[in-house]
Amino acid sequence: MSYQMLIDGNMVSTEFWLDVVNPATGEILARCPRADAAIVEQAVAAASRAYPEWSRRSYDERSAKLRQLADLIEERADQFARLLTEEQGKPLEQAAFEIAGAIYVLRTFAEMRLPPETLRADGNSQVVEYRGPLGVVAAITPWNFPVLLLMNKLAPALLTGNTLVVKPAPTTPLTTLLFGEVCADVLPAGVVNIVVDANELGGILTSHPSIAKVAFTGSTATGKKVMAAAAESVKRVTLELGGNDGAIVLDDVDTASAAKHLFDGAMLNAGQICVAIKRAYVPSSMYDAVCEELARLANAAVVDNGMHQGVQIGPVQNAAQFAKLKDFLADAAEHGTIIAGGHALDRPGYFIAPTIVRDVSDDARIVREEQFGPILPVLAYDDIDEVIARVNDSDYGLAGTVWGKDLDRANAIASRIEAGTIWVNQHLAIDATIPFRGAKQSGLGGELGIEGLKEYTQARIVNSVSLD
Ligand code: ADP
Repeated sequence: MSYQMLIDGNMVSTEFWLDVVNPATGEILARCPRADAAIVEQAVAAASRAYPEWSRRSYDERSAKLRQLADLIEERADQFARLLTEEQGKPLEQAAFEIAGAIYVLRTFAEMRLPPETLRADGNSQVVEYRGPLGVVAAITPWNFPVLLLMNKLAPALLTGNTLVVKPAPTTPLTTLLFGEVCADVLPAGVVNIVVDANELGGILTSHPSIAKVAFTGSTATGKKVMAAAAESVKRVTLELGGNDGAIVLDDVDTASAAKHLFDGAMLNAGQICVAIKRAYVPSSMYDAVCEELARLANAAVVDNGMHQGVQIGPVQNAAQFAKLKDFLADAAEHGTIIAGGHALDRPGYFIAPTIVRDVSDDARIVREEQFGPILPVLAYDDIDEVIARVNDSDYGLAGTVWGKDLDRANAIASRIEAGTIWVNQHLAIDATIPFRGAKQSGLGGELGIEGLKEYTQARIVNSVSLD
């Protein structure tokens, strides 16, 4: 299969290539074309040309296009899911779930509208808020959920009348290029353009005078660069950045259930989820039992190529992340006790054995930093106020979880956690109708829900009185 970028309605190749590696084998999966600065300029120019006509269309027309995109992805869902597993590493079942999620996001946004809102109307005066599109949006996506996180940006951007330049992460460009084929069939030329880089062209987009908004998901470090670059022309930015989510287990939960929830929340997608459980806090009275059960689950987990049936945990996505996790493991071994895993698997590909670390201090790297891999530190606590303070003692504030039978108590504790989303007795309950945003250095602005839709619009207040 050959891959091409989408520029101004045409599928294009270049003489520059990028090797895409299958993380389960370490072998080259495909070569794909990549852009240079001139091609990025063509993409931005095409999106700018397409904007006036696209933005004048009605919501209903644009909504119909979103539904068509969803239908065509659905027809090819199997192809998308397999390619996603091959380039990203996640088990096929989870890849299929991501593709289904992407389709759902397109269809859910297709239902949303932002009609003019009358803020005041009395006698002969009225104040009405209208919302119009911004212009050309740059959507820059990461490698953990390349398809879903693209749709979280593309669906609201297109529905509200913006056009797009999309740039996937260099290690997972293929599913985005496959989606480009779908766009070429459905959308007018230039409405969506896709460029691939080797991590060097994002800065052109984030500082480009013709880009009105940058919608970014990635690390906090790169997010700061995006925000700085966008400042020059006061671009709108939505930043979905890193997290170091704490999970608080309360003392009325049984051991097996606590351990199962913690394990699943930490290990899904090999831990490479911005809202994965990254630190677990367990009452001292239950600590040994929960750690033991977590170690048992880690040792029993099926870790293998995601294309094989029954696999729970695939490889981590890329060589750089693999190297970073091996560093974390060395540090965890020095500052804590590893009771399961603790090493890379002795086989080709980027496999890390699911790892549980106990007796680790709050200032160890594995607790303070975002590991983004299948490594869970487990910490003991004695007092609720103390554990809330420890969870909140972080520059991050993306999400968190509280697990407890007494729902009122669990909810009260949840409301004290400084994060954008706190789930109680569930995890990853993200839905296209519910706003999602990060607190502190975990983000700026938000995605999803009507709030997320508004982020792709400029509000205009028309404030009028009659002349006499
Ligand atoms: P990681 O460090 O885990 O690879 P990043 O946050 O750097 O993740 O990457 C997320 C996305 O941001 C990718 O598409 C990447 O190519 C892009 N990116 C990297 N550097 C920049 C930059 N300076 N400006 C804009 N985008 C960038």
